[in-house]
Amino acid sequence: MPRPSPLEVYAVLDKSNCKECGYDTCMAFATDILERKVRVQDCPHLMQDPKQAKNRDKLIKLITPPQKPVIVGIGDRAAIIGGEEVLMRHQLTFYNQTAIFIEIADDDADLEETIKYLTALKLERIGEVLTLDGVALRNVSGDKEQLKLAAKKIADLSNLPIMLCTFNVDNLLFAAEAIKDKRPLLYAATKDSWEQIGKFAVQYNLPVAVFSNNLDELMSLSATLQKLGVKEIVLDSGTFFGSGNLSVTYNKIMQLRSSAIVKEDVNAGWPIMGVPAVYWNQENIGDTKELWEHQFQEIIMGAIMESIDTNLIVLHTGQKKEEIWALLALMTLRQSVFSDPRIYPAVDAGITKIGEPDEMAPIFVTSNYRMTKIPVEQDLQGANLSCWLLVVDTEGIGIESAVAGGQFNAGGIAEAVKEFKVFDNVKHRVLVIPGMAARLSGALEDEADAFVVVGPRDSSGILKFIETQWKPEDFMKEYASWEK
Ligand code: SF4
Repeated sequence: MPRPSPLEVYAVLDKSNCKECGYDTCMAFATDILERKVRVQDCPHLMQDPKQAKNRDKLIKLITPPQKPVIVGIGDRAAIIGGEEVLMRHQLTFYNQTAIFIEIADDDADLEETIKYLTALKLERIGEVLTLDGVALRNVSGDKEQLKLAAKKIADLSNLPIMLCTFNVDNLLFAAEAIKDKRPLLYAATKDSWEQIGKFAVQYNLPVAVFSNNLDELMSLSATLQKLGVKEIVLDSGTFFGSGNLSVTYNKIMQLRSSAIVKEDVNAGWPIMGVPAVYWNQENIGDTKELWEHQFQEIIMGAIMESIDTNLIVLHTGQKKEEIWALLALMTLRQSVFSDPRIYPAVDAGITKIGEPDEMAPIFVTSNYRMTKIPVEQDLQGANLSCWLLVVDTEGIGIESAVAGGQFNAGGIAEAVKEFKVFDNVKHRVLVIPGMAARLSGALEDEADAFVVVGPRDSSGILKFIETQWKPEDFMKEYASWEK
């Protein structure tokens, strides 16, 4: 089914333009509901007027994506997974990024410390704060009391969503009963346990993960659970390591995604999960490799899964502080895959003050490509420099390409210098341009009537540049000696 248009959505709205949703018109509401900026619940007419119940149901049907979303956990950190409309990111955008859950054993002696660390973990990259999405609590002890105790402890200490993991149904439901108000994900219903787990999930309205490495069986389990009344399902077709098994894992996930999104198969139309952490369950894992080499295998699987929009992954590596490298890799990749391709990666041109610059503080020049401007700004702040950063409109293109393509040119920089009254802030006329734009220096000196210094090729080298090469008085003496 093609994506509905705003007009189709408008057709089932009240059309009174009452503004109670905060929008001036129902048409504006229709446009934003398709972008998931508002929900059906935000229109009181649809929700409260019994005469509009039919239209409300029509609207819900119209905007429900072929892969339905599932919510794990509650509150601010509840994880919304799935809910995608396209197979490839460039066809529209992916809406909900791969949720990263870190596994913890229920008998882990450091459970308290680990959960506090994972909950607080934050990485800042190009202006966004990256965090983890949940905890997969494994019943390693095999004891139901231990699982319940650990689940309650995590629920008390953290607001991270919890996935309870065991194939022992009694243990799973015993622990789930204790934290059911936190909306845990029950992992996993199989051909042997679907009925008991399904009934429990219906009773408490909980999401259920279904596991089978046979896709037909997985679809049949999904159909049966839906018939039973389960409202939210997550599909796990298995994660396999070893020769040839990477492609097996990949193909199954892609088959499920294609069935959901292209064929609109309602049994496949649920989020998909993968468990790179099963790497550590292999019996003959071998001891000839270093630890990091093993960890690397797990992280590669995680990266592959993220890049094909697997909706939830469970990792073993990343639990400890010294394993932050693994999370850095996966969170950075995730940030790139799930950025919206419809939003141009540009920031506004202008002049930014960093720290408390004095009258001889340097003025650095950069492009308005988001991934250039923000890291440069962070490098300057990280180096504790007080300076000015002039951001030139390069149509959102990075320095190297913009120099080649002509968007970062002497005339454009000179215009920005004038427009933003750059030299009004200081008592010099020196500009520091990126090393990659060195060839613009002569022309820029003429166009901007400035002394131009070529800075480092990468902003991480700015501190060293300032310490060894920033001599504004000398530059100004040379500038003064020029024949005008
Ligand atoms: Fe239209 Fe409903 Fe918004 Fe009123 S609250 S403007 S009826 S969408």
